[in-house]
Amino acid sequence: MQATRIAFIGGGNMATAIIEGVRRNQAGAATHAEPPVVVVADPTAARREALASLYAVETAEDNRSAIIGADVIVLAVKPNQIQSVCAEIQPVLQANQLVVSVAAGIGGTVLQRWLGGHVAVVRAMPNTPAMVGCGATGLYADPALTPTQRSLAESLLRSVGLVVWIDSEADMDAVTALSGSGPAYVFLVMEAIESAARTLGLSAETARLLTLETVYGAARLAMSADESPAQLRARVTSPNGTTERGIAALETADLRGAFLKALTAAHARSQELG
Ligand code: NAD
Repeated sequence: MQATRIAFIGGGNMATAIIEGVRRNQAGAATHAEPPVVVVADPTAARREALASLYAVETAEDNRSAIIGADVIVLAVKPNQIQSVCAEIQPVLQANQLVVSVAAGIGGTVLQRWLGGHVAVVRAMPNTPAMVGCGATGLYADPALTPTQRSLAESLLRSVGLVVWIDSEADMDAVTALSGSGPAYVFLVMEAIESAARTLGLSAETARLLTLETVYGAARLAMSADESPAQLRARVTSPNGTTERGIAALETADLRGAFLKALTAAHARSQELG
């Protein structure tokens, strides 16, 4: 069987995370399938050279030549460059080539139009933990996509973490507000816990280490347990104990209301951008 050919337009942070995931998967694959051929187009010579030496990818200066013969084309430039990149590749794009866009806030229908009516388009909303293989990606595709094209897009993004298919494109704004922006909410919570711990007298290093491990450990426990976060919380909250006092303070400060406001605001902004 012929190797899958994947072309990346833009070789920045998100492209690098996905390429690393593809190479990691390939190294761990049990089958003797041909490893995917990866081509990266980026105007910056230093990026091309770094990617070629780290991940054994082919590189191109020119976007059009990069997509020739590709099964999948990943648009990984900044959202404000997507339209011009679409206009550039559209004349050489073949109907059977799958286009996956990771650009935040640009709808699938808009992408199809910018690509001259190209149908095979998948919109992906990954997040920054993709860089360590722990991403969470929402995928939306035109219903006309073939099962093979859907599984091609899915396996590409699964190489950097969890993938969830979203049935209605309108829900991509909620995905953006949750998992797209979510890592930053968690970082803010970590900053707040760390800073409070320092106020209580812990050293910066101790506060940092204990905060990191507590968030990581809680996430791992929640993922491996059969219980919901609410049940796990109830189990560590003894009557009249320290956790009960702390949780009560968070409820009084309306932490739930604050998160509702945060997701609602991010959702509204995503709708504005789209
Ligand atoms: P980045 O700036 O790291 O990478 C963009 C790359 O595109 C750069 O290497 C740049 O040289 C290259 N480039 C610029 N113009 C080009 C052109 N005309 N043709 C080809 N390449 C060109 O950006 P990033 O963080 O990797 O983001 C890329 C996309 O991923 C964005 O659309 C963003 O919305 C999306 N995204 C990023 C994240 C993230 O966490 N970084 C999360 C979700 C989605």
